[in-house]
Amino acid sequence: MDEGRPHRPGPAAVPVRECGERLVDLRDVPALLITGRGPVLLRLGVVDRLVTAQTMLPEGLRLLVIGGYGTGAGLRCAGHETGAAADLTLCRADGAELWPGAADPVAVEQRHTLSKALSIAGLSTYAQTWWHWSHGDCSWAYQRSAGHARYGPVER
Ligand SMILES: [Zn+2]
Repeated sequence: MDEGRPHRPGPAAVPVRECGERLVDLRDVPALLITGRGPVLLRLGVVDRLVTAQTMLPEGLRLLVIGGYGTGAGLRCAGHETGAAADLTLCRADGAELWPGAADPVAVEQRHTLSKALSIAGLSTYAQTWWHWSHGDCSWAYQRSAGHARYGPVER
């Protein structure tokens, strides 16, 4: 029973101390693969962590980033206004996309592989969206009990 315990407010109640870090266009980051030709913008600290996460993947696997900052990119999930969240999946070294959304053992293992690397690199996922990962935003701060977020919404 948690009667008497204070109710813990959700991610929206986490304070933001905007650090002012710039957005990086992943088209200028050869280490990370992206889909499409349009810009995929993420905060510098998030890009660094994705590059680190990729080094922890088994040989022959890479990250494939589908969306970042702004609306209309990626999978239309919420939480991209800070530039702190990326929608991503795995791909083979030749760029062939994997989309491990199924319940079969191979997909489950691939999601686990992705999740492990991203978690160790300092990113968090939210709800049931295995492809949506962030670092430094309110959702991340809430899950990591970080006290405050580093990245608020970006005006452009
Ligand atoms: Zn997303």
